[in-house]
Parts: sequence; structure tokens; C-alpha cells
Amino acid sequence: MKTGFIYTDAYFDYDYGPTHPLKIIRLKLTYELIRAYGLLSLPSVQFIITRRAEEEDLVTFHSKEYLTHLRQANEDDVMGNAYAFGLGPGDNPVFPGLYNWSLLVTGATLQAVDFVASGEGEIAFNIAGGLHHAMASRASGFCYVNDPVIGIKKLLNEGMRVAYIDLDAHHGDGVQAAFYRTSRVLTLSLHESGDSLFPGSGFEYEIGEGEGEGYSVNIPFHPYTDDDTYVWAFEEIVPEFIHAFQPDIVVSQLGVDTFHNDPLTNLHLSIHGYEKVIRRIKEIAPRWVALGGGGYDVSNVARAWTLVWAVMNGVELSNVLPETYVKKAAQLGFYEKELRGDVRPFSPHVRKDVRIEAERVVSYLKKTVLPKLKER
Ligand code: ZN
Repeated sequence: MKTGFIYTDAYFDYDYGPTHPLKIIRLKLTYELIRAYGLLSLPSVQFIITRRAEEEDLVTFHSKEYLTHLRQANEDDVMGNAYAFGLGPGDNPVFPGLYNWSLLVTGATLQAVDFVASGEGEIAFNIAGGLHHAMASRASGFCYVNDPVIGIKKLLNEGMRVAYIDLDAHHGDGVQAAFYRTSRVLTLSLHESGDSLFPGSGFEYEIGEGEGEGYSVNIPFHPYTDDDTYVWAFEEIVPEFIHAFQPDIVVSQLGVDTFHNDPLTNLHLSIHGYEKVIRRIKEIAPRWVALGGGGYDVSNVARAWTLVWAVMNGVELSNVLPETYVKKAAQLGFYEKELRGDVRPFSPHVRKDVRIEAERVVSYLKKTVLPKLKER
């Protein structure tokens, strides 16, 4: 079995700005940790250097008018009504090379798609991808170009049925919106409830429309949801929906902003719960295109995605981080020594609340949404 890892150091030509929470350095740190564990020199691994997508790849989802704005923003300049397209100070800043950055990220996703769809390999991982909030004509939530949507559209063009699993703490709203009225893509998003977190959507009753009814699945969690409840809900819903849908391929967004110490969100997962879910996705995916996503504690990102890559390649890692990596990371200001930290203990009464809410959502999805998927 072959696995493909798509990467380039050229990501570091770009920067969202000193105060922006999305730090591109997390990709470099992930790559360095994966390399230090020897996981890029396995015989099964194909290392693929990222190349940019073409504008014609982007028009399968994004409007030409919006792309004109992105090209302009690439020169660190904006046109008069850029704000109407989501561009400007705040979440989606204009910075030099913004469009080229988006073409690189999307190019890597298309390379991952090609690697798996062509049969060259069964699994591919683009750690830079997973920018799931971008809409057809609007930047949103640090995302300018929606690489998951563009990758999935390419797979649809090749006649495949695609299941999309989104683990990011934020609802995968851009991907849901793109496929809300089709039965060819099943989208499953597990996230913190829109009541407490951006983008304010992803409630269980958002189930798709028309042909797509039953093909959008949302599992919103209350703040402070921990490993036990999260993994339980995943097990109750995801394998059964995937089995009912019978995809040719699974595309996943593997955001790690669900962790208890992430600065932007309120879920309380640990790397242990995350690992369980990753192992399960590997079991249920016939083929697998994996994308990165959120994650605003840089050390979490490097350790979690290294663990993902190890699981993909069937390798068990020592919990002690390699010395070469520890030194390199320290130079950049990160001082982690272990791959997996401790599980964070949590207050029993909050745990009971989040469990009751998750049970309600799971029961709704099984009784109301699964039958709609099965009857088609
Ligand atoms: Zn996120």
C-alpha cells in the first residue's frame, strides 16, 4: 500500500500577519517532526512536492468576480468593495501573495486527489489543506479558496461517490453549502455548537435539501465536550452513515482545534480521543484523501498530524519526541517533549450535561436523518 505526503517549504513565503492566529510555521513544525521520526523514508511513502493549482481549477466552485478580487489582493492591494467579498482587516486579511498561497494549498489538495483517484496510492495527506469555510464568492474564517470543495468536485467529475468527514472544531459550512442539494456527496461534520462558536451553523436539523436531503449530517457538541462523549458520538453515527452511503473515497478535514488547550475554541478533546477517531476513519475509508485544518496551538498541530501520518502508514511511534526535533522546535520557541500528553480530567457535572446533549443529537440523527439516506 502506498501513501502520499504533499508538502513544500514554499508555504513560508506567506504570512497572515503577526497577530493572526493561523501560523503557517505549524506546517513546517509538522513536517520536521514527521521527518525526525523517519516517517518520510518508509518504503511505502511517496513524497510529493506541492505545485500550484491553476485558476481554471478554482472556477469549478468560485465566482470569477471573487477570483478577480483575490488576484488584486495578491499584490497587497484591494478593490473598492473587497469587504463585500470577506477581504480586509480581521479574519481574512489581505497580505502579499495571498492568491499564490491559496493556489499552493489547493494545488496540494488536487495532487492528493490525483494520487489516490489514479490508484497510485490509497491514502494521501495534505497538511496545508482543509480550508473549509471559503464560500463561492466570499472569504471566511481564515479561508480564501475552498480546497476541500475543489478536490471533491474533481472526484465527482471522475464518477466517484464521496463522503466528507470534518473533525474541525468549527462547522464545515463552506463544504456543506457546496453540496447541500446533491446526493453524490455525504458531508459529516463534528464540531462545537454554532450557539457558542463561529460560524454559527451546523445544527443537527441542517440535513440537506431536495436531492440532498439526508446527505448533510451535523453533530454539534456543547462546550467542554471531552474524549468520551466525542468518540462515543462518532462511533454511533459516522460508521453507520458511511456504510449506508457506500462511498468510493473518503475526504477528511482533520482540524485539531478541538483540543482542550486550543486558544480559539471550547471543546475538551485530548490527542487520545483524536487518535481513536483517526484509527476508525482508516478502518472505514475505502480510499482516503486527508486534509489539515484548524489548530491554533502550534505544538498540538505538529504532534497530532504526525500521529495521523504514523497511523496512515501503520507505524507505532515512541512517545518520546526525537531529540533532533526537540532541538529544532526549541529554537522556534516550542518545548514539547512527548508525543501524547495526559488526558485532561474534567468536572463530572459538566460531563453529564454535554453527554445528555450529545445523546439527544445522536438519537435525532438516527431516527430522522439515517432513514432518509437509506430510502434512496
Ligand atoms: Zn477550526
